[in-house]
Amino acid sequence: MTAAPPTPDGGGFVPGAQRSGPPQPGDLALVVAGRRLLTGSEGFPRVAELPADTAWVPLGALAGVPAWGTDLTDLAGEDVDEEAYPGRWRSWRALAAELPTPLADLAGRALAVLTWRRTHRWCGACRAELADVPGEQSRRCPDCDLYVPLRFSAAVLVAITRPGPAGSPDELLLVRHADGPPELWALVAGYVEAGESLEAAARREVGEEVGLTLGAVSYFGSQPWALSGPGVLLAGFTATAADPAAEPVVDGRELTQARWFPLDALPAELPAAYSISRWLVDHVAARPAS
Ligand SMILES: [Zn+2]
Repeated sequence: MTAAPPTPDGGGFVPGAQRSGPPQPGDLALVVAGRRLLTGSEGFPRVAELPADTAWVPLGALAGVPAWGTDLTDLAGEDVDEEAYPGRWRSWRALAAELPTPLADLAGRALAVLTWRRTHRWCGACRAELADVPGEQSRRCPDCDLYVPLRFSAAVLVAITRPGPAGSPDELLLVRHADGPPELWALVAGYVEAGESLEAAARREVGEEVGLTLGAVSYFGSQPWALSGPGVLLAGFTATAADPAAEPVVDGRELTQARWFPLDALPAELPAAYSISRWLVDHVAARPAS
């Protein structure tokens, strides 16, 4: 399986929380244990391959085939019964790298939904046990009526360019993250704060991490999961440096290095092909010179 380019329509995966009927033998089965998922010889197993008494949660549909999830984390942890659940357990990072877009989106949703269900069982206001709201990924407190929907985080990525020297191509700012692979050249990125627009987050993160002020900021696209884990909606932007002569200054905390690279001489150590970071870099590199 190879990674696919971005598919704005979701590539045939439609998230859902409706239970139109009981799971059918041919429906897709996403079995989660901690941060891992069970895979079979052809992607994810089918409901018929798993124990009949499995408790299933609706996740949506892939190309019209309903998908269901179940969480074995509390039941068995790392020691899942291999006869009842045959297949190979894969980490999120491995799945994100190998699965084509709609399957990676489905796997990300399964992990996000089942992790949320496991970690949001009690009312945060009055400690009563929350009850599922039928047809939604949300819960409600039977005592104080607190409504608890599944929430996710938003983060921004910014591909910043500036004109190169006369007769030379534009330059792209790439950075090395303190907590990432040390050789990887990536983009400035960060989480959106509550009360902040995506564009404002892009400007703030760039200012904080490399000390640059942005000129024009344009939306590029999004990816509904990050390599660091599902439950993060990544929004990508292209931007120009307001002052083409300004040099980046790393904060030394989140970033270890920041450098301008001519677009015809980008480093080999770039983000993986299936990540929106790489789609942004490739998009900028393919643009006609300004
Ligand atoms: Zn309550």
